[in-house]
Amino acid sequence: MTVQTQAMELKMYINGEWRDSQNSDLNKVINPANQEIIATAPRATKEETEEAIAVAKAAFESGVWSDLTTHERAKYLNKIADKIEENFDELVKLEVMDNGKLKAEAEFDISDAATCFRYYAGLIMTPDGETYQVPEDVQAMVVKEPVGVAGLIVPWNFPLLMSVWKIAPALAAGNTIVYKPAEATPITAMKLVEIIEEVGVPKGVVNLVMGKGSVVGQTIAESVDVDLVSFTGSTEVGREIMRASAGNLKKVSLELGGKSPNIIFADADFETAVDYALFGIFFGAGQVCSSGSRILVEESIYDKFVERYVERAKQIKVGPGLDETSQVGAINSEHQMNTILKYIEIGKEEGATLACGGRRLTENGLDQGFFIEPTVFTNVTSDMRVVQEEIFGPVVTIQKFKDEAEAIKLANDTVYGLAGGVFSGDGAKAMRVIKKVRAGITWVNSYHPTYVEAPWGGYKQSGIGRSLGTYGLDDFQEIKQINVNLAVEPVGWFPNE
Ligand code: NAD
Repeated sequence: MTVQTQAMELKMYINGEWRDSQNSDLNKVINPANQEIIATAPRATKEETEEAIAVAKAAFESGVWSDLTTHERAKYLNKIADKIEENFDELVKLEVMDNGKLKAEAEFDISDAATCFRYYAGLIMTPDGETYQVPEDVQAMVVKEPVGVAGLIVPWNFPLLMSVWKIAPALAAGNTIVYKPAEATPITAMKLVEIIEEVGVPKGVVNLVMGKGSVVGQTIAESVDVDLVSFTGSTEVGREIMRASAGNLKKVSLELGGKSPNIIFADADFETAVDYALFGIFFGAGQVCSSGSRILVEESIYDKFVERYVERAKQIKVGPGLDETSQVGAINSEHQMNTILKYIEIGKEEGATLACGGRRLTENGLDQGFFIEPTVFTNVTSDMRVVQEEIFGPVVTIQKFKDEAEAIKLANDTVYGLAGGVFSGDGAKAMRVIKKVRAGITWVNSYHPTYVEAPWGGYKQSGIGRSLGTYGLDDFQEIKQINVNLAVEPVGWFPNE
């Protein structure tokens, strides 16, 4: 594979064939750092999506994938990981051009993607299932089986990595797949499926369908032939997916939005706390579901913290992801940029103090792209929309708290429950507080590191189910009990005269 300079013509992959859509309305994919059109992608029709689902269903029923031994499936997964590594530089570059993120951020994503395939290749070969004791002469056991056809719907913020968090365990478990990337970021999706084809995964097992959420995504969620939908995206669309999935009561796994608290106590290592609080929100330009978008600071250090935080936030260099001097990359789309700018106006109207940032950046050659200054709001209250709603951009609020109880109350005071952090030099206090934070992904004296071994997902309206780790595999497996009678004779319930 080589990086193209002119617009790539992306194709869908259905039943082992690369295809255009019959719909001539193409999606123009742009580089958010300069608005160049870098690719065109099909917008599949409902019928084409249904065809892909039918193909995945037939492939599942044929056993071409689910009947392979775990060793055989693991071999494919490891080969996919090898190819991701072989194509590392290209995948990094494409992800940067498509998403707008920094090269260093994309490097983590692509490297994690390879690790994720290797992890599930290993995990699927470890012992699973269990036996249980019953009060009969019966050998009772549990086995795990693939769910069937898995519909995978992913967002634009980590285009490849979010896909791999689903594709790797889904394939490891023996499912077949209908995979829909976000319209804004379909490029590495096609590259990944090219790799999947190259390593020889049988046709029909992985089907890539590009297009609108309201058409392709909705059809996947509604289809009675899809057994499971695994969705990562906004809470609003997650709700729609759940409703649409009710027809056949398909399994639903949802990784949704967040408004996560980062709690800083006065006894924390000050510079460490400031540093992670910057990283917590400005990494990925705040377009990260688990961003620490609400910083809560103990009253006695609030002024000192705000002063140092703002001083450092102002020094952050925003710029194109491929420029190695950039420290925060682009916003993924004009639409997302306008949403963020709208929230900044809302914050000002609500009476929050704009301590720094707040503008679209157009100087120094940034005028063709979508860039926003790291933005800090202080003097905020919990009822403000900028404190309650996910902005999904480089905008953070800093709030004051008096004591542990108030920190916990403020931390839990949104509908979300995805992530959270606590910074303190008192280990017992940090543990007490983190245990009370109603969120699925938490850190103490750290923020953001993510491990393929550890379950990822949210409490409350941040989702249902868990990705990664053993839990991420469970989402793609059915559990079956098998009871084998060891004393084969009539049951004798009805009289036998
Ligand atoms: P989105 O909800 O707008 O879209 C996500 C995907 O759903 C896209 O592929 C989209 O085309 C599709 N979609 C849209 N409408 C649909 C419908 N009616 N039916 C089926 N599919 C539909 O989200 P986004 O803007 O792409 O991503 C940002 C959101 O994702 C943020 O809220 C962020 O917090 C969340 N996110 C969560 C996690 C997590 O792990 N919890 C990770 C990354 C992103």
